[in-house]
Amino acid sequence: MQLSALVDWVHRYKDAVVARKDELTDLDRQIGDADHGFNMARGMQAASDKLDAAVPGTVGELGKSVGMTLVSTVGGASGPLYGTFFLRFGTAAGAATELDAAGLAAAFRAGVEGIVGRGKAELGDKTMLDALIPATEALEAAAAAGEPAELALDAAAEAAENGSQATLDIVARKGRASYLGERSAGHLDPGSVSSAMLVRTLADAAKG
Ligand code: ADP
Ligand code: MG
Repeated sequence: MQLSALVDWVHRYKDAVVARKDELTDLDRQIGDADHGFNMARGMQAASDKLDAAVPGTVGELGKSVGMTLVSTVGGASGPLYGTFFLRFGTAAGAATELDAAGLAAAFRAGVEGIVGRGKAELGDKTMLDALIPATEALEAAAAAGEPAELALDAAAEAAENGSQATLDIVARKGRASYLGERSAGHLDPGSVSSAMLVRTLADAAKG
């Protein structure tokens, strides 16, 4: 996957969160404070604008630009968490200007570990990690099996979507939703939905 396709990913993700802003906010209204769509749309719009203004020369620069913008423009929990994902993704890729399936898996793994380090959540806590950890595992397995990036990312996107759906039945243990206790069950985690979109738009961008 070329750097230009990864830049395209960021723009596609911006378009997706802007298009589904109200849906993400409605999900957050059920078990949070009704700002997730607003947070993501504002943050990704700023990140997308910044990439247009200063075109990155490496995947490392791309991750740093998007990550710093999200950390500085989004007030909610999701800004620092997604910001950390992009910062670590970029650091792992460094001076690369293209990533194969193994490179994508390594960068993705680094990004997700950044979220774990920052938010201290784990699989099954009803957070974005319930989409991102299965996605990373699927991506790593496909890369290890020698699949091309496009197919590996399709598998990752499907795993993320299934993981997000599975948050429906979970009682939240992290984030605002955890304040609701048992009442958080029966609702999808909004961050898992935006994370499934993150992986799906990456798979789409890889196909051009
Ligand atoms: P806030 O919770 O501050 O209002 P958002 O509404 O933008 O921020 O984001 C909420 C999402 O952030 C949740 O749906 C969940 O997926 C994710 N989240 C919250 N806390 C954590 C955490 N500690 N680790 C991972 N993800 C988290
Ligand atoms: Mg919120």
